[in-house]
Amino acid sequence: MDISFYSRFHAPLESAYLEEVLASGLETDGLFMKRLLDCADSLYPGCRFLFTPSCTLALETALACLRLHPGDEVLLPSFNFPSAANAVLRHGGRPVLCDITPDTQNISVRDASNRLTSRTRAVIAMHYAGVSAPLGGLKKLADEAGIALIEDAAQCVDAYYEDQPLGTVGDMGCVSFHHTKNAVCGEGGLMITKNHGHWQYARQYRLHGTNRAGYLDGEAARYTWNLPGSCTALSEPQAALLLAQLQCLSLITRSRLHVTEQYWKQLAPLEERGIAMRMRIPAYARPNGHIFYLRFQDPALLNSLIPALAAHGIDCKTHYVPLHASPMGEKLGYHKEDLPESLACYQTLLRLPVHTALTDEDIARTTEAILRFV
Ligand SMILES: *Cc1c(COP(=O)(O)O)cnc(C)c1O
Repeated sequence: MDISFYSRFHAPLESAYLEEVLASGLETDGLFMKRLLDCADSLYPGCRFLFTPSCTLALETALACLRLHPGDEVLLPSFNFPSAANAVLRHGGRPVLCDITPDTQNISVRDASNRLTSRTRAVIAMHYAGVSAPLGGLKKLADEAGIALIEDAAQCVDAYYEDQPLGTVGDMGCVSFHHTKNAVCGEGGLMITKNHGHWQYARQYRLHGTNRAGYLDGEAARYTWNLPGSCTALSEPQAALLLAQLQCLSLITRSRLHVTEQYWKQLAPLEERGIAMRMRIPAYARPNGHIFYLRFQDPALLNSLIPALAAHGIDCKTHYVPLHASPMGEKLGYHKEDLPESLACYQTLLRLPVHTALTDEDIARTTEAILRFV
């Protein structure tokens, strides 16, 4: 494939920072973590942060703060990566899968509110493609039901709901720096919160359930085991890499948005001819060019298009098997037909290559190959 689906951004200062970190003692939450926290302060003003080895572990850390009881329920969309559902299970809760709306592929507020019960403790919004879920409606739902709103903002660094960065609207938000995301450090994640109590709990969870962070900040004479914790701190070499990446974030976002805007313009004929819908961006959402997708009318056409594009050296991908239709979803008692919009999305969605190394010629070659095939 000469037009690859992913290609990570190379930040100019990566090597210099790595050399600097290798000369250090590699202490957890060392010099680069301090610099990373300053950088996070400017991206997410007024919030508290915990950098973690993955978004998955950030979600587990966030779910720990809810202190679920067995049988407590957490609402989340079925068209999703398994991390949030795993985090609910790991902390003793029951994931309650909700359907999506076909315009944005994000959780349907109406379907989520129909699934509220006296056991519901939280709703987890996932912002697909870096396009904000309907946070206004979800926040209202959460406030009225007295439950927490958590954002799975894995795909969302530098994406916004109105003027607020995704991950900062809910009680807690989690971002990913996995190699497939916009800014990368091999594996990495971030938990964001404005809630002091959650931050205090999460900060101990992240360091083995101890108050070691407070002790190092001079808040206690010694540290001890206070709660059921884990080890979810990001290492210094990864912090160094991530700092170099985040310092280039506006460049990365601009470059990716250029790609998605070209796709949008050049693929208009698919919509005019009723063949496929281009991804929709609601007025409240300011995306980051994480994904560009199409939804085809005819799943058979999509299935024959993928190998045809591959034959031209262009790597395009479908996306999630909805959680409710997976073998694990079946074990949780779901049937394929239960959430029809999620199933339809799985059958008809195609993602095109988006990364900072794509040229205008690559983009034109991709859209021409698609238009010629259909
Ligand atoms: C990538 C992704 C995750 C997992 O992130 P990691 O950093 O790999 O743990 C979770 N949820 C969603 C929606 C994702 O896209």
